[in-house]
Amino acid sequence: MRLIVVNDLRLQLVAITLAVYAGVQSSAIAHEAGHGAVTRNSLWKSWVGRFFMSFVMGASYSAWTERHGPHHRHPNSRKDPNVHSGLFSFNEIDAVAAKGLAGW
Ligand SMILES: [Zn+2]
Repeated sequence: MRLIVVNDLRLQLVAITLAVYAGVQSSAIAHEAGHGAVTRNSLWKSWVGRFFMSFVMGASYSAWTERHGPHHRHPNSRKDPNVHSGLFSFNEIDAVAAKGLAGW
């Protein structure tokens, strides 16, 4: 296997820009697929989401869908699974109750 090495800074910047653009667009497509905005067919919805999030981005589409539904039902509230970090508090009640490093 041969590795391609690009020493030209301009080409490196173009490659980085394209990679970031592809990542952002893939995330957006996977997110929209998860909401059924790409297709209402549940099989295709899942495959589009898995391709863009799992294959292109390297993240778990199934783990994302498990957490994202509750996030939209209770955005930024105590029931939102995205705001349970264990280290940061996203509301005053959690901040006051935090112990250990999170309460420091
Ligand atoms: Zn969403």
